[in-house]
Amino acid sequence: MASSDLHVPERPSWRCVDDGTEWPCAVARRRLWAEAGNRPVVVAERMAGWMRQARNELVGLSAAQLHERFVGWVAAGPVAAQVVVRLMGTDPGA
Ligand SMILES: [Zn+2]
Repeated sequence: MASSDLHVPERPSWRCVDDGTEWPCAVARRRLWAEAGNRPVVVAERMAGWMRQARNELVGLSAAQLHERFVGWVAAGPVAAQVVVRLMGTDPGA
């Protein structure tokens, strides 16, 4: 695996060039949130743009699957919080 630390999508597979996972990978998601100032609307708008680009390349995915992969995760909030929840098994903010 390359180690460019860019975490951009390889196309048309839409897998991260660095970690090989489905893009947006965890690092890309965290960066998106940081770049957007943790504003969900900004993240969602940017991901909708990516989704439009991916639609013609990820031909195996339904519209619903595409939406979930590119936009649906945004509603769950910044990845850092999700990682904490996964590690601790509880929601520290609850
Ligand atoms: Zn990555």
